[in-house]
Amino acid sequence: MKRKGILIVVSGFSGVGKGTLMRELLRTYDNYALSVSMTTRKPREGEEEGVSYFFVDRETFERTIRQDGLVEYAEYCGNYYGTPKEYVERCLAQGKDVILEIEIQGALKVRERFPQALLLFVMPPDAEELRRRLAGRGTEEDAVIRRRLARAQEESKGIENYEYIIINDDLQACVQEMHAVITAARRAPGRNEEFIADIRSGLSALVKGE
Ligand code: ADP
Ligand code: 5GP
Repeated sequence: MKRKGILIVVSGFSGVGKGTLMRELLRTYDNYALSVSMTTRKPREGEEEGVSYFFVDRETFERTIRQDGLVEYAEYCGNYYGTPKEYVERCLAQGKDVILEIEIQGALKVRERFPQALLLFVMPPDAEELRRRLAGRGTEEDAVIRRRLARAQEESKGIENYEYIIINDDLQACVQEMHAVITAARRAPGRNEEFIADIRSGLSALVKGE
């Protein structure tokens, strides 16, 4: 059965391990494509153009909005972030499952535009482990870590908007679990409307032919 891919939105607190998890998922399974976002934020040390993000100025970003070139966009901490449309549409048509790693405002816009998108929220096993990971990454100082934890507290209010939570405790177990959740979610009737319609018309033809 030829199928179109599904759109998967992944959100989660800063430092929970989304980036690490996405890298492992893509390395382990070949049916996923990760969308690269456009942003007006400046690149951090080690980030690569076209791999981490497409880094653009505000004028270019606003032009892309006007040209309807984004699936969604949001302003986050004073910068624009958005999902370029062309890559997403091409991958879905090729049957790939496309992952958008985006924050909650964007996630809700995606769900409005694509009601069948699968919304996943990555959680740490407990709050203290989130603090440890933020500190362990070594890229943020104490004040920044406190700000990110306060932000996590805010973001935690939106978790019920997501379809599943994914707990990132042991990384490999988490990769397996995420793949299992996506595999099961693909079988929801709402994500198989064409297939169901085909079976119905096949049955109707058989019944008429009797
Ligand atoms: P995010 O993209 O959500 O901000 P990162 O992928 O940068 O998070 O991960 C934050 C830190 O946590 C990194 O140092 C990473 O190596 C570590 N980490 C990620 N997943 C796990 C895990 N399952 N167990 C322990 N440490 C983890
Ligand atoms: P950072 O600056 O740490 O890379 O990202 C800040 C936040 O923006 C993260 O929560 C990240 O998931 C989110 N983000 C990254 N790309 C996009 C995007 O294309 N759209 C939206 N809405 N959020 C994004």
